[in-house]
Amino acid sequence: MKTKAEWQTLSESITLRNQAYIGGRFQSAVSGETFKTTNPATERVLAEVASCDQADVDLAVAAAKAAFVSGSWSRKAPGERKKVLLRLADLMQQHRDELALTDTLDMGKSISEMLSVDLPDSIDCFRWTAESIDKVYGGIAPTGGDTLGLISHEPVGVVAAITPWNYPLMMATWKLAPALAAGNSVVLKPSEKSPLSVLRLAELATEAGLPDGVLNVLPGYGHTAGKALALHHDVNVLAFTGSSRVGGMLMEYAGQSNLKRVWLEAGGKSPMVVFEDCANIERAAGTAAAAIFSNQGEVCIACSRLYLHKSIKERFLKALLAATAGYRGGDPLDPETRLGPLVDKAQLDTVSRYIKSAMDDGANLLTGVIPEYMEGQGYYIEPTIFDGARNDMRFVQEEIFGPVLAVCEFDDEDEAVRLANDNRYGLGASVWTDNLSRAHRVSKQIQSGMVWVNGWGGGDSTMPFGGVKASGNGRDKSLHSIEKYTDLKTVWISL
Ligand code: NAD
Repeated sequence: MKTKAEWQTLSESITLRNQAYIGGRFQSAVSGETFKTTNPATERVLAEVASCDQADVDLAVAAAKAAFVSGSWSRKAPGERKKVLLRLADLMQQHRDELALTDTLDMGKSISEMLSVDLPDSIDCFRWTAESIDKVYGGIAPTGGDTLGLISHEPVGVVAAITPWNYPLMMATWKLAPALAAGNSVVLKPSEKSPLSVLRLAELATEAGLPDGVLNVLPGYGHTAGKALALHHDVNVLAFTGSSRVGGMLMEYAGQSNLKRVWLEAGGKSPMVVFEDCANIERAAGTAAAAIFSNQGEVCIACSRLYLHKSIKERFLKALLAATAGYRGGDPLDPETRLGPLVDKAQLDTVSRYIKSAMDDGANLLTGVIPEYMEGQGYYIEPTIFDGARNDMRFVQEEIFGPVLAVCEFDDEDEAVRLANDNRYGLGASVWTDNLSRAHRVSKQIQSGMVWVNGWGGGDSTMPFGGVKASGNGRDKSLHSIEKYTDLKTVWISL
């Protein structure tokens, strides 16, 4: 691992791509407009980036459609597509430092986390998905002897992917790997808050052998580039990761245009429930801290609601506060840093408002303060924990997307399940118990797409990732993610 000084030196020499990537080449936005992306740790401008809108969307979708129709990728044998995607994974590995550094500079995530989580996960997602694509079979229907019924998965055509800023490379990868593996063309619109790493990824994809036009990247704002993409009649599937609010808008855009299929990976307000029979309180408390403070709490599956059985609460909170001491704001380029700045001033203001509302609602502040912003010093915030929280408080119900934890207590299992489910979101949940029956019983009852028993956030490329309720309908990763980007085709042959 490089030292902080080495990362700083590298950050001064890195070349950041800042144009749209359409048809296999970089180009400015048709309007010539740009927007600034800044480093949240220093507030210095990193790059002036092409600000794409309708005209660029039209060009990118046309390029994607032409590539699809040409068959240069869509009709390539799956085994051949596999080789290209494996080469891309190798190139990502070779350029690992550069990709990690780009996201760290662009959104404030610690370099250690980039190298231990985002990069390995993204590379593995490409490798695993590439490996699986030539192992997916169609079917033959059980028809009578004078007919043959074939069932196959076909690529859908043009996939639009719209992604958030909190895991810029990884969230894009979770869409790109399966959509490309299935033979589609893609137009990706990254968040305007962290657009840089995927521009480099697109260039590496071309180097790996992906034909021109198969992957296009349009940096730009949601209400311009994103909306135009979502309304486009030549986009067949829209894959989104982001807030539930915008997810709802995308469903409307689909209805107003061509009924494109919309996959949503949306917000979360995940509960962690710790029962009195939890075998290792210290480990659970350390995990609770990681589950809300890693990536500054800017994590869709962050466990921002902690429900503790009243008999263990005191001991748990002591261990939690000790674990929290390990998360102090620092330079994301320092490999020791575990808490970087929030992504921007708007996010800092939002999180500050929620801390204030928790205080106004009478929750008891155990650690943390309302952040005092100093211009030019970065958007830093301390880890914040409130005890005495209740489900009827606003900060317990709404997604904050920052390092703010609400601690509530419960008396018995029924109450724990009821409190955990009393929320509009249903992304993840963490359950701590040493009782196998209870672990299964509670996992079944909790309304969420994912449950971690005696842990948090575990999973790999084999496991689907996604939620229920207002957390969305889509699943990234695993073979299910490939199906999302295919249409089922049936052919009935009279013999
Ligand atoms: P966001 O919804 O504000 O933006 C997400 C993307 O949508 C961005 O690219 C944005 O430009 C675009 N967008 C905004 N308005 C649009 C519009 N009108 N039309 C089309 N596109 C538009 O979300 P965010 O702030 O970037 O990300 C944080 C959210 O993402 C949180 O709610 C978090 O929980 C969620 N998230 C979910 C998952 C998951 O897997 N479920 C993973 C990561 C993040």
